[in-house]
Amino acid sequence: MTAVWDPGLVGAELVALTRSLGELSRDLVILAEGNTSQRLPDGRVVVMASGSNMRTATAEDFVVVDVDPLVELMRSPTATQADLTTALDAGEHAGRRRRASIETLVHVAAQAFAPTEFVGHTHPTAVVGLLASVHAATAWDRHVYSDEAVVIGRPLYVPYATPGIDLGRVYFEALRRHVDTHGELPTLVLLGNHGIVVNAPSPAGVEAGSEMAVKGALVRVAAYSVGGVAPLDTASVDKFFGRGDVIERRARLGGGG
Ligand SMILES: [Zn+2]
Repeated sequence: MTAVWDPGLVGAELVALTRSLGELSRDLVILAEGNTSQRLPDGRVVVMASGSNMRTATAEDFVVVDVDPLVELMRSPTATQADLTTALDAGEHAGRRRRASIETLVHVAAQAFAPTEFVGHTHPTAVVGLLASVHAATAWDRHVYSDEAVVIGRPLYVPYATPGIDLGRVYFEALRRHVDTHGELPTLVLLGNHGIVVNAPSPAGVEAGSEMAVKGALVRVAAYSVGGVAPLDTASVDKFFGRGDVIERRARLGGGG
């Protein structure tokens, strides 16, 4: 079995991060939107169960999945949505079917490239608005202020795909290309018409990446509304990335190296 339901494996840090991201006032998710995950020392991933609410999450709202079989599914040209549903099913416990979220693949994909301790996926209104606009594919091509370069580094944009096996395939390929080009996982992934994924080594890193994505969206919308974005010049951002104090700040925030 690929998925098991075992609340004893769900850490307090993961539950706290989930509830924090789910706070209504932050406008990152509503209802059963969004999900979080944590990598276990044995390489398995604890991920939210389908239909759970982030704001009220408890250790019972998570399922533990094996990475390799799910990576196989993303790489297989013939895998179906039904195959994925079967792989995510942790069986019935206390009268309830426990199945890992249909969005589990965006949590697992990162692990195929580098061990990633925490992943947070949300649908922030401010970001989804921009990702549902004509600017979606290009909005984050360039940095527009230096703190987002520090916290987020180089983000990755992934065009819309139906959540499930389709998104998993597209997402896995996009991550592979990004890692090939830049030599590191993106901290922030922007999903067209959908939301964001933040990969980080700590809950604080997921919080910081999520907040900076929201701020980056609000700044861009403000700039578009008064005539357009005047981005930072690429050469100065590259120089900035190489600076010792910036590398240190990024590492502290969990924004990679
Ligand atoms: Zn989503």
